[in-house]
Amino acid sequence: VSSLEPREDHRICVCVRKRPLNQRETTMKDLDIITIPSDNVVMVHESKQKVDLTRYLENQTFCFDHAFDDTASNELVYQFTAQPLVESIFRKGMATCFAYGQTGSGKTHTMGGAFSGGDQDCSKGIYALVAQDVFLLLKTTAYEKLDLKVYGTFFEIYGGKVYDLLNWKKKLQVLEDGNQQMQVVGLQEQEVCSVGDVLNLVELGNSCRTSGQTSVNAHSSRSHAVFQIILKSGGKLHGKFSLVDLAGNERGADTAKANRKRQLEGAEINKSLLALKECIRALGQNKSHTPFRASKLTQVLRDSFIGQNSSTCMIATISPGMASCENTLNTLRYANRVKEL
Ligand code: ADP
Ligand code: MG
Repeated sequence: VSSLEPREDHRICVCVRKRPLNQRETTMKDLDIITIPSDNVVMVHESKQKVDLTRYLENQTFCFDHAFDDTASNELVYQFTAQPLVESIFRKGMATCFAYGQTGSGKTHTMGGAFSGGDQDCSKGIYALVAQDVFLLLKTTAYEKLDLKVYGTFFEIYGGKVYDLLNWKKKLQVLEDGNQQMQVVGLQEQEVCSVGDVLNLVELGNSCRTSGQTSVNAHSSRSHAVFQIILKSGGKLHGKFSLVDLAGNERGADTAKANRKRQLEGAEINKSLLALKECIRALGQNKSHTPFRASKLTQVLRDSFIGQNSSTCMIATISPGMASCENTLNTLRYANRVKEL
């Protein structure tokens, strides 16, 4: 547990969360190669490999805003990532939280998107925890008088197309209006009045997401899921919190031998994750140009990257096993680049 308080001034916060070894890894005698020696350091202990005739690969160390080991609860992770951003949406801010990592590393476990899925762990995820704090703040004297209404949206981006998870996966167009605002035309915005309402929406969206799919993980590994909590005042947008469960970042060797459809999907995911990195970096550097048009993901999240009042956090999730080493290093390098200004 950290001695530091979560920082509210952070516009970009990048954290890493390690999950425990699972049953399968334990059975296969996979080794845990990740240690978290302090609350912001991650070490990867690779088995020694020759780089060339004289050098061996050493342990690698990465620093982040926070690093959570496999004992950390969703609540603790939330406290240092999304929670400090919640109040900003009451002050007309655009907050965004991403879960980034390899399939099976804990993105959905962290975000809490699997209520009817296989996740037996009932602890609340970030969707529910954000909702909880939004409804608490709504009733405080400072914000009560704004007379805000709360709405939820839930959609998926798959193969560069947007599908509404609250409306039978209806395919939606993304258009840019005269003011350079991106609109997901016809996206369902459902009013929510309690945490229970939000959880019902999430469950509805999840069941829609996985219907007709042979495997929950196979599909979710190739699509980005975006859940948004929107505040409106007098029918106008006031603030927005976007919670994004990204497509799995594992790509490479297997894409080469995969079929054409898989290759195209893989290329699309690579493109969007690259664009995302560039957009977050541009936000951090206060750059005037943000390359949000480079992918559908960054287009629909344009509001999150533009403007004075945007804040972002990323939770990079990693698997502890030696078998995942290459993917884990890729995740850590990506997160490092996002953090580095
Ligand atoms: P992803 O969404 O990244 O593909 P999941 O969130 O579905 O991965 O996690 C894969 C499995 O690992 C799930 O069964 C999940 O319950 C478990 N898991 C992930 N993270 C943790 C954690 N921090 N503690 C305990 N179990 C976890
Ligand atoms: Mg998932």
